[in-house]
Amino acid sequence: MTKEILGVKAPKNNCTDQKCPFHGQINVKNELFKGKVIKKDINRSATIEWNRPYYIPKYERYEVRRSRMRVHNPGCIDAGIGQEVLVAKTRPLSKNKNHVIIKIIEEETKETKKKIVTKKIKTEEKSEDQE
Ligand SMILES: [Zn+2]
Repeated sequence: MTKEILGVKAPKNNCTDQKCPFHGQINVKNELFKGKVIKKDINRSATIEWNRPYYIPKYERYEVRRSRMRVHNPGCIDAGIGQEVLVAKTRPLSKNKNHVIIKIIEEETKETKKKIVTKKIKTEEKSEDQE
């Protein structure tokens, strides 16, 4: 069992996945991608997506283009839909998979919660004169 890959510590969960970089037989290369999980399959696969700026010379501006990639989702990591993950290149694992998830990047929920500005509730006390 490998304890650490590219500075990422192995998850505490045990798994019997042969295609797991920590508990299995595969080696990863130092070629990393970040993305968001948009699809998850039962057979330990996932699809990630990220945005990249694409320059258009005519308008001298960038537009947002999306990239997608099929990746392996090891049993001990088990990333869910919507999570940001770090993937590393490895040997071809199947027809479409050449990368494996090595880490779930913690969603910055604490910071985003702070950004939510509490709306000031207008407390205008309208005194209705009733006789
Ligand atoms: Zn594992």
